[in-house]
Amino acid sequence: MTAYLALCDDDSSWKTTEDMLSRVHDHAVNNGFKVSFGVVPCMEQKKPNNEAVRYIKSIKGDVLLHGFNHPEDYPEFRTNNVKFIDYAISEGLNILKKEFGKVPTVFVCPHEDCSKQAWDLLKRYDLAICRTVSFFGWVRRTPIRDLPIKELLQNVVRNPRFVYKRSPINYPVFQISAGFSTLRSPDIELKNAKKALDYAISNDTLCQIVMHYWEFNDALLKAYHDFIDYAATCDVVPVTLSECVEKELL
Ligand SMILES: [Zn+2]
Repeated sequence: MTAYLALCDDDSSWKTTEDMLSRVHDHAVNNGFKVSFGVVPCMEQKKPNNEAVRYIKSIKGDVLLHGFNHPEDYPEFRTNNVKFIDYAISEGLNILKKEFGKVPTVFVCPHEDCSKQAWDLLKRYDLAICRTVSFFGWVRRTPIRDLPIKELLQNVVRNPRFVYKRSPINYPVFQISAGFSTLRSPDIELKNAKKALDYAISNDTLCQIVMHYWEFNDALLKAYHDFIDYAATCDVVPVTLSECVEKELL
């Protein structure tokens, strides 16, 4: 039994320095794990910080498109303004290609939300989608033709944790298994992350751990690094989200 483990840090932007990222991620990298970064291409009209770009490149970090401006107070991809969404995706991909030398294949929804119109456009750009999963979230915001209702319902009954061997919808969507956030206590985050990894190991599936570098106080950082130490003792294959798309691991 083996899990694929993907570690994902969102929100790198012009505000992000090398120290902020290395403080959180060096430990995982030194233990042989890989990190995917959801990078904001154009926050407040500014490009991602050179230091952050350099750090991500230096650890061969995986780069995902994370919104466009990513305003802090609302999910910018919840809009149905197709013109804006189209511009934001194509320009966002251009900027990240220029900065990192590669076109991202995964889109991380800002505030974990997107409209049906955004979903359709992301598909047109062939971008896998990463967002939070809840049963009603699927039903409310997923285009109906992509919703296999029967399979969804079966999974709700059989698998309340919503961790699937394959995506339950007819399109590659990543699901968050656990995360490290200050919304809950560090002990609870550590316990949930270990539980999610154990579950993924016993089901030979993907465990995606999500975080924001800016949320880590010392206690949360210790919990995250304890999780890395735990994962290093488990039967785990480190992956990036882009590799999951490439190898069709979803
Ligand atoms: Zn974000």
